[in-house]
Amino acid sequence: MQIFVIEWGHRWPGSDPTMNPTNLTSMSNTFSAATGQRSARPSALEALRARAQKPRHYLDHAATSPLLTEARDAMVEAYSLGNPGGQYDSGRRARQALEDARETVARILGCEPIEVIFTSGGTEADNLGIQGLYLGLGAPGTIALAPIEHDAVLKSAAFCRDRLGATLLDLPVTPEGRGDASALPAITGPAMLTCMWANNETGAIQPIKELTDLGLPTHIDAVQAVGHEDINFHATGAATLALSAHKFGGPRGVGVLLARRDAKVISHVNGGGQERGLRSGTVDVAAAVGLAAALQAATTDMEAENARLARLRDRLWEGIRGEAGDVVKHTSEPALPGHLHISVPGAEGDSLIMLLDAAGIECSTGSACNAGVNRPSHVLLAMGVPEDVARGAVRFSLGHATTEQDVDAVLAVVGDTVARAKAAGMA
Ligand code: PLP
Repeated sequence: MQIFVIEWGHRWPGSDPTMNPTNLTSMSNTFSAATGQRSARPSALEALRARAQKPRHYLDHAATSPLLTEARDAMVEAYSLGNPGGQYDSGRRARQALEDARETVARILGCEPIEVIFTSGGTEADNLGIQGLYLGLGAPGTIALAPIEHDAVLKSAAFCRDRLGATLLDLPVTPEGRGDASALPAITGPAMLTCMWANNETGAIQPIKELTDLGLPTHIDAVQAVGHEDINFHATGAATLALSAHKFGGPRGVGVLLARRDAKVISHVNGGGQERGLRSGTVDVAAAVGLAAALQAATTDMEAENARLARLRDRLWEGIRGEAGDVVKHTSEPALPGHLHISVPGAEGDSLIMLLDAAGIECSTGSACNAGVNRPSHVLLAMGVPEDVARGAVRFSLGHATTEQDVDAVLAVVGDTVARAKAAGMA
């Protein structure tokens, strides 16, 4: 990992002038008890305050999207509701709010309300869908999946292999990062498939229809797609589908598993039998209400918003290409409108995001960071991207809060950032 020292006196593009020692008039001097002297450096608190005041440009919507006011307002009202299982007035009112939320989700995503199972998020919905469908096969069998899936899926499938006797079968991936249904080897015996609707790193939209047409019980991880794609659950032919509220402007910690009435899903969550017996436990009504409100808001005028995001994303890409030169683009159409996944050969992705962070820009490498060690993205490696190029990856993901000013801010610093990250080299 590279360590960057942002020198005092260096005028960092886009930096807060209070972070520059030539411009410290607004900062009080810091007294050192050890030396009895006052230092011109700001205290840690002052530095933090200065940082907080600095305009930030958030371009990591694929990680989480800021809460929409529609969701927040709906939740504030719903927080005073009680247990939806109560057989008295306050319980009935909570139940009504929960069922209204369920109906909204069902109407927007093309299924019946009874098929909407509230969970604690996308990860739980993926675990329940994959393990549930696998157990529903009734005998040891095969799970087909592509290596570009999110860890919530990869690790659920690995659990089925390690603890429940499943055989995992690789769904081959094209260089553009799409599962290739035509290349799936023949399967004999009980089997299921799990696939994502859109990839969280590249934004690549997957050939969902071709995959569900294989005729296997299928789980879809639509966590990145909901709020951007027109989703009709019944039309997909899938057995289950996962989504997560915080990816489309809802609260964190709540998601949904859509589970067809006739799908054989055996739950590993046992208890009071709530949510059709698939996800026992008292439902967080306010979170469910917030999810439904965010879904409603995100899918109203979705096409216009997608077009706005795609325009911003394309301007960002053209600008980066112009300012930074030799940059590789991993996102190819059809893709989610706000995703731009790129690599800077010769630079470390974590160097780039640290330098961008120092300039007020928040984005990510897109790949998991394990115990502080940044590994090349398993998605890019599965697409055949060479390891040294994959290590220089940065993902910008735009969403409802993104403006032209956010794009301007990146373009103002990206040339210098890339030059510095390249000068630092590879770890
Ligand atoms: N699946 C995909 C494709 C994701 O991008 C994520 C989150 O990044 C998840 C699942 C997990 O969702 P959650 O954060 O709600 O647990």
